[in-house]
Amino acid sequence: MPPPEPGTFWHRLDAAETRARLGCGTEGLSEDEAAARRQSVGFNRLPEKPPRPAWAVFLDQFRNLLTLMLLAAGLAAGLVGDTTDMVVVLAVTLFNATLGYAQERRAGRMLGALKAMLAQKARVRRAGTESVIAAEGLVPGDLVLLKAGDRVPADGRLVDGQDVEADEASLTGESEPVAKTTQALDRDAVPLAERVNMLFMNTVVTRGRAEMVVTATGPATEMGKVAALLDAAGEGQTPLQERLDQLGRRLSLIAAVVVAFVLVQGLATGEPLAQVLLTAVALAVAAIPEGLPAVVTVTLALGMVRMAGRGAVIRRLAAVETLGSTSVICSDKTGTLTLGRMTALEGWALERAHAFAGDDRPVGLESALAPAGLCTEARLNPATGEAVGDPTEVALLRLAERAGALPEPGRWRRLAERPFSSDAKLMATLDGDGAACLLSVKGAPDRVLDLCDSLLTETGPRPLDEEARQAIAARMEEMGGRALRVIALAARPASPDEDLATGLKGLTLHALIGLADPPRPGAAQSIATCRAAGITVKMITGDHRVTAGAVARELGLDGEVVSGADLDCMSDAELAERVAAITVFARVTPEHKVRIVQALKARGHVTAMTGDGVNDAAALRNADIGVAMGRTGSDVTREAAAMVLTGDDFSTVVGAVREGRIITDNIVKFVRFQLSTNIGALLAVLLAPLCGLPVPFSPIQILWVNIIMDGPPAMALAFDPARRGLMEQPPRGRDAPILPLSRLARLFGFGLLMALCTLGVLWWEGGAGQDMVRARTMAFTTFVLFQVFNVFNARVGAESALGAAALANGKLWTALAGILALQAVAVHWGPAQALFHTTDLGPAEWAIAVALGASVLVLEEMRKLALRLPRLSS
Ligand code: ATP
Repeated sequence: MPPPEPGTFWHRLDAAETRARLGCGTEGLSEDEAAARRQSVGFNRLPEKPPRPAWAVFLDQFRNLLTLMLLAAGLAAGLVGDTTDMVVVLAVTLFNATLGYAQERRAGRMLGALKAMLAQKARVRRAGTESVIAAEGLVPGDLVLLKAGDRVPADGRLVDGQDVEADEASLTGESEPVAKTTQALDRDAVPLAERVNMLFMNTVVTRGRAEMVVTATGPATEMGKVAALLDAAGEGQTPLQERLDQLGRRLSLIAAVVVAFVLVQGLATGEPLAQVLLTAVALAVAAIPEGLPAVVTVTLALGMVRMAGRGAVIRRLAAVETLGSTSVICSDKTGTLTLGRMTALEGWALERAHAFAGDDRPVGLESALAPAGLCTEARLNPATGEAVGDPTEVALLRLAERAGALPEPGRWRRLAERPFSSDAKLMATLDGDGAACLLSVKGAPDRVLDLCDSLLTETGPRPLDEEARQAIAARMEEMGGRALRVIALAARPASPDEDLATGLKGLTLHALIGLADPPRPGAAQSIATCRAAGITVKMITGDHRVTAGAVARELGLDGEVVSGADLDCMSDAELAERVAAITVFARVTPEHKVRIVQALKARGHVTAMTGDGVNDAAALRNADIGVAMGRTGSDVTREAAAMVLTGDDFSTVVGAVREGRIITDNIVKFVRFQLSTNIGALLAVLLAPLCGLPVPFSPIQILWVNIIMDGPPAMALAFDPARRGLMEQPPRGRDAPILPLSRLARLFGFGLLMALCTLGVLWWEGGAGQDMVRARTMAFTTFVLFQVFNVFNARVGAESALGAAALANGKLWTALAGILALQAVAVHWGPAQALFHTTDLGPAEWAIAVALGASVLVLEEMRKLALRLPRLSS
């Protein structure tokens, strides 16, 4: 089959001719034909800007004032003959840039892999079989099946469908959804916005069900023609990164003062300009935690990979951080807190109760259950016993099958349909068999009952009087109280042109069916975990309040149950006032969800909200963390969400919150560690002249400590496991400072101790007539060892740093061992000695350095012990 001629006006052809021209018939292309077409037209992708080349990313690492200053100072040193310093500065800068480059690439690769997990999928029919494939594999001629909430994966001609509407704002600017038809249009020249039998790539189906034949893919689509090259979506900074930037700027100010001081002081004592300059710049590098934002990105990205492994795919970096502060999780019930696997357990029909639990075949209910077989979108394959479709519908269909109530094959033809919507909470179909028409309805009993005026009995319909209504309501309450989802089935004879949107009335109630949907194993435990962690869980469901309340109790959720109707009577202020006490929101619509999120936000909560329906997108966008269902959710909800659950499981949300807490914790640890080193280095250099001592470190040593020594343990902190009690504390406030004042004061204390001990060693060892090189080597080594011990202080809060958790991070121990080995090389290896201006140290000198370095940990442990003592004795 030749590929279709370009420029065909597909909207002019009727459905049959479109299928014929594209060679797909009603069964779709064969896999071989699809593969052949893909060969000739390529993948169905819009052109993207090529990623930045590797060399540009590498050069970016030098676009940083400090690095440039360092290079300039190194070159200046070289010019005045200090070539060793120049070479080392160059090497260190290069090393730093390579590290930055590697981190950026790694984070990029990880994010790319996560994006691929969220790649768009499309449901196609090929050779008569429906399957879900990656949208980029679509070719012209493919039959694509779409439903409300799907993003259209390519351009196509609508050949079959019900009530299809599409939001084409992204293409035509038209803000209202456009109603679509399968009819051919009668002109060639029709503007895009009026091609009402076509669907266009990247627009969204907002209503109905559609079958389209793909007419154009990738760059040949209308979107491909107008779209400028798509930028790979850039990420802004996360709040934590912003605050770290702020911290960095403040430190830069302090550093600038110190550097100026060093410059003036150095020049005043007559040291060579180039040397003074290099010291000053090296100090600036040491003082400013310029590596922080990069480390944060990598840590967040690592966390995203870990979360993806557990079924939570994060779509925005900032979400990882926000997750850690989550204080309320609003969760759907069906499929998230429960398994979403429904079984019909019992029912009420023909004025009697029926049990469906065993294997017995329900007898005499053929006509009572008939609407369950007709009014459905689910499909049963009698040969294999497999069923596809919504779990509620599948359960009803299986019941109808057992009761022999399925429609005769081939008898009924669907004339019209009103799909289920969570607003109306019911579904209706109109079917005809040539002679008669039948209107069938199923849905929430409170909605369906309003449309009924008669009740099916053994002898036929009888009027639905007040007494019967009350009996039915009591049944509903009773079944709901046992956590069953109750569905009402109703029907009546109809005419072929009935309007299902407005004409649903005068129905006969056939049956009430109670469906069981067991809680997910682990959901109750996760809710208990949330309670311990100060996170409130709220259930938000379309189900009836009695059913929802019963399921909530089974899950251990206590609190007020409120329905959507109650919400309608509350003002926003009132809702915000009461929202804390409400645990279950039942019979809510997607609009209610938005109000609930806003009320929670007004109370200062960080809210995670789950959703799957098309209309949930607004609520997800409003929530701090929108959580979409990967399996049951629509494209639109997934795109609005910050996180997508691949398994639709509530426990995954809680796991992700825990992971978010770990990550934020680890970033904070890193900041503490890095900052105390910076303070220590600054104070040592600043206090030296005040104590009548020379600058304790050479510029190369400063760079060594800051870049080579500090880097590996800091990176290893990203892998720290959860600390004990992490999920037994209330959530960290969104605006909580990274470093509260008390912690800042302690960091200053650590830095001061490092500086004083380093200078003390210099003074003691470097007294009159003693070996100054040895003294500086010892001071240098002491400072490095301080970092080794101080990392343990950075890892903990008020608890001891020496508990079992001290051993928990293997990577950290490797990093520390690496540092010690490198320091030994810097001190004992001849060529390194020349670079670092060091000399061999004896065992006693090493022991002193270790003892002094350890003091920062020992003193802090003693302080904590002293604080604990009064509590222990009381
Ligand atoms: P959530 O997932 O938020 O817990 P839900 O899935 O229970 O909500 P909806 O899907 O909005 O909520 O269903 C609301 C009500 O509509 C149900 O209680 C049920 O009575 C009825 N219902 C659900 N699915 C169908 C369906 N396929 N056809 C007809 N009625 C349905």
